[in-house]
Amino acid sequence: SPPARVTAPPPASFRAALAKRETLDFAIDHLARHAPVPAEVVPLPAGAPLGAITVDTGRCTLCMACVGACPSNALRDNAERPVLAFIERNCVQCGLCETTCPEDAIALVPRLLTGEGARRTVTLNETQPFHCIRCAKPFGTAQMVQSMLVRLAGHPAFAGANADRLKMCADCRVVDMIEKDTGATRGATLQ
Ligand code: SF4
Ligand code: SF4
Repeated sequence: SPPARVTAPPPASFRAALAKRETLDFAIDHLARHAPVPAEVVPLPAGAPLGAITVDTGRCTLCMACVGACPSNALRDNAERPVLAFIERNCVQCGLCETTCPEDAIALVPRLLTGEGARRTVTLNETQPFHCIRCAKPFGTAQMVQSMLVRLAGHPAFAGANADRLKMCADCRVVDMIEKDTGATRGATLQ
């Protein structure tokens, strides 16, 4: 049978934006709106400049290193609580988050997500904050503290009885060090 006729979409009515990415978004929206077979998600080959990421929540400690590495504001944190959020439309699939993550928790998912879903902020991982054992101020997460306890077990500043410092906020950690160092120096002077 003869191939099905594909009719060209009507001319687009948007104006080209200064930012190339914005123009690309307009074009994708236009083509998706007039696609003969509507599709919300279209898988793309590796290396495509559009897509999502997945985060293995069993590995992620919510350290937010990936947020700092993301050059396009696709990854977001929250000043109030430990939440890792993502806006797919901003992601350029550069892979910097994947290579930065110390827990190897991120994987790239090249794809085209059409419609409002790509502009929505989605939560990739979240948890409750950890509270400083000295002043009760919230900081980091329980997973992050646990990970530091394992990684820094051999470090002299955090070994043995000093391991509790890792359960303190940055301010209390310094106070604890000064108090213990001062006490040790005084003890040595008295001997
Ligand atoms: S995904 Fe990796 S880099 Fe991002 S918050 Fe989780 S552990 Fe940190
Ligand atoms: S792949 Fe690049 S743009 Fe996408 S979330 Fe990771 S760092 Fe951000």
